[in-house]
Formats: sequence, C-alpha cells, structure tokens
Amino acid sequence: MKLSDHARFSTVCIHAGQEPDPATGAIITPIYATSTYVQEELGKHKGFEYGRTQNPTRLTLEKNLAAIEGGRAAFAFASGMSATSAIAARLSQGDHVVVTDNTYGGTFRLFDKVLTRYGLTFSYVDTSDPALVEAAMTPKTKLVFIETPTNPVLRLTDIAAVAEIAHRHGALLSVDNTFASPCLQKPLALGADLVMHSTTKYLNGHSDSIGGAVIAKRDEDIEWLRFIQNSAGAILSPFDSWLVLRGTKTLPVRMAQHTANGLALAQFLETHPKVTKVIYPGLPSHPQHALARRQMPNGCGGMLSFEVATFEHARRVLNQFKLMSLAESLGGVETLVCHPSTMTHASVPPERRALIGLSDSLIRISAGIEDIEDLKEDLDQALRHA
Ligand SMILES: *Cc1c(COP(=O)(O)O)cnc(C)c1O
Repeated sequence: MKLSDHARFSTVCIHAGQEPDPATGAIITPIYATSTYVQEELGKHKGFEYGRTQNPTRLTLEKNLAAIEGGRAAFAFASGMSATSAIAARLSQGDHVVVTDNTYGGTFRLFDKVLTRYGLTFSYVDTSDPALVEAAMTPKTKLVFIETPTNPVLRLTDIAAVAEIAHRHGALLSVDNTFASPCLQKPLALGADLVMHSTTKYLNGHSDSIGGAVIAKRDEDIEWLRFIQNSAGAILSPFDSWLVLRGTKTLPVRMAQHTANGLALAQFLETHPKVTKVIYPGLPSHPQHALARRQMPNGCGGMLSFEVATFEHARRVLNQFKLMSLAESLGGVETLVCHPSTMTHASVPPERRALIGLSDSLIRISAGIEDIEDLKEDLDQALRHA
C-alpha cells in the first residue's frame, strides 16, 4: 500500500501511517504490548528501545494524526489534559499566555491552579474579538491558546486573524480543535503552529478511550514535544492508540452524520414553541455564521446548545430523555445531553458563567449518529415536559 501525495481526506484517514504488519501482513496495526525491545548487538536496534520512548502502535497513530491535521508530526498523550500540559511545558518561568476566556474547564484549572505556581501568567480574553487579543499581548506573551468553537456557547475565534497577531508579537498559536475535528477545521493551514485534541471525543468517537494529541509543523516544536513526551512520560497506551486508529478510519463518515444531525436538531429546536434560544454556528441566527462558513466550510459538527424558559423547565426536560443519555463528554456515536451550569461548568463562578452567556436554563447536546427521526421524537417528547 502506497498512499499518493494527493490522496484525498477520507483516504488519508484510513491509510496514512499504516503499513501491513511486517511479520504477518495483518492489515490492522497490532497492539504492540511490550515494555522493551531486544537489541541485536550492542548499539544495534530496530529504532525501538523502550516502550515509553517508542511504541509501534502509538507511532502508527501519530503518523496518521499528523497526516489528518496536515502537520509534520504528532504526539499522542494519555489524555487531552496531558497534551495541553505538554504544550505548556514549552514555556519558561515568567512567560505570559493569552487564553480564550471560556476555555474547557480542565484547561482553566490546569493553567490557573497549577501552572501559575511555576511563574507563568495567563490573561483570559474573549478571543472571538481579535482586537481584544491584540490588546492582551505583552512583550512576555509566548503563547496564544484558543479553543473554537467553545463549550457550551459555541463562540468562534478567527484562527487566521489571531495567528497573524500572535506571530507579529513573536508568540505561538495553539488551537484546541477537539470540538470541530480536522474534518471541519484545519488550524495549521489557517496559520496555527500547534493543534491539540482530546482524542477522547470525535477522533476516537466511540466513547471507550481517554487520550490526547498534539500536532505540530515547526522543527523546534516537534523536537521539544518528542523530548517532553519521553521526559514527562504521559504517553498514550498501545491499546488506546489502537482504539483511536480504529476511530480515525471512520472519522469523515461519522462527522458527516454528526453534522447533518446537529444541523437538523438545531433547525428543529429553532421552530419549537418551548425553546427560547438555539446556539449552533451553522444556523444563520448565530452571530458568527459568516465566520463559521469561511472557517468550517464542511459544516459545524454535532455540538449545539439551547435554552428553555427556566432552570426548572431545563431540569424537567433533562429528566425525560429516553434515547439521549444524560452525561458529560461528547463526540461519541450516541447522543448525549448535559446541563453545563451544574455539570461540566459547575466550578465556573456564576458571574463568570453569566459573562460568557451560559445560563442555568441552557442544555447542551452532543448529537450522535442515530437516525434523526428518533432523535427528534425524543427531543419533542422531552420538551413536552418543559
Ligand atoms: C474533553 C476536552 C478536553 C480534555 O480532554 P481529556 O481527554 O478529558 O483530558 C480538552 N478540551 C476540550 C475542548 C475537551 O472537550
């Protein structure tokens, strides 16, 4: 199998980085469960010395992810948070970071509760307005860390505009591409230096693994990430690497269905009498719909949020779902619903939640890939209780 240089996206997802197993011809990369590798003679080995440093299953996944994101190298970590930690380890004492204000809660916790102890400083700004990013830059800013679309209010940041600002100030731009996936958004092509993922979500896609990845394109970043992955050691296991590799093969067909269902549910909710507001970047009513069409030309994925009249209404609706499951996380084949203000964002102070537009009556949906009529029926019967 030889992948041509101009292979299209879904072909890349299925084949990139993968060769039939040299020992048996197995078409699927095996789970190489091994801690060490026997060396032929002193100083002579096959490129594999120790399981933390190199593992063939992980290496295959990393080549696959690099190709899918259009980067030059990828590094797989034990979780999305350890991937973000590896990016942060690129910084030194005294450095300053500009961060999207309603970034993933775990990212905020890592930055605010852990990394500030190491002499790093962070400014949380509404990066959907590039002027606010510009205003937050200081001579000490070494990294701009953005998330787009954000959770759960689905605010977008113009990646190309922020990349220009970051680079003009000598800083790197890192994009958390978890919500969009590389099917819908290509941050490296838009000027970002680093992309991070919680592979737990769409890349694995089957709600059965926790993992993370960083994809890079510049030599200095690649060298450092390889060094920090081995030095800090938060590697993705061979089994989880195998699961994510299985996941990326179907990423384009899954994302097409997530996107179709996400849009259909958003349109359904927009006409529903019990619903007071719908947030989905693919709807013309979204304030950044024009940016969404430019930056996410293949559609806006499976994440949407809506509001009902009061918290009490939201509580009643959430307790009535039959097909959709009440759970944190997202990006799996099954539809999940959650109540961000008491679940994923409970640790965010109420005044901060108000600031980002996260009300107590907001419900978030991660649209799965079930039949859309079954999803609409379930939403409709649950909303009858609002
Ligand atoms: C889940 C998530 C993370 C953290 O990833 P884990 O795999 O849970 O460590 C980071 N960013 C976003 C946008 C996420 O949804």
